[in-house]
Amino acid sequence: MRALIYFLIILAVFFLVLFVYSRLQQLKHNIRDTLDPKNETPETPPTSSKEEKMVTCHYCGVHLPKSEALKSEALSEPGTEPAERFYCCTAHRDADKNTTDA
Ligand SMILES: [Zn+2]
Repeated sequence: MRALIYFLIILAVFFLVLFVYSRLQQLKHNIRDTLDPKNETPETPPTSSKEEKMVTCHYCGVHLPKSEALKSEALSEPGTEPAERFYCCTAHRDADKNTTDA
């Protein structure tokens, strides 16, 4: 009978150690995440409010912010891809329109 009690105590201690060990691992993981926040936030870059999407002028290839770019009204004809095109200035927009229309 005493042997059974010892056995149960050893079993209880074993599970207690296992529980504490897993808790420590979890805690270590949490601490690592807290100390290194780079691992946690892959989306929403902190500078997203300041920086904006860059687009390329379809005519000359210069990069400019999307808000400053001229967006061509995509006259998507059947058979052609309805591509959204951006330009750095009206001259390039008109020039590109002339080359594609001709
Ligand atoms: Zn351009």
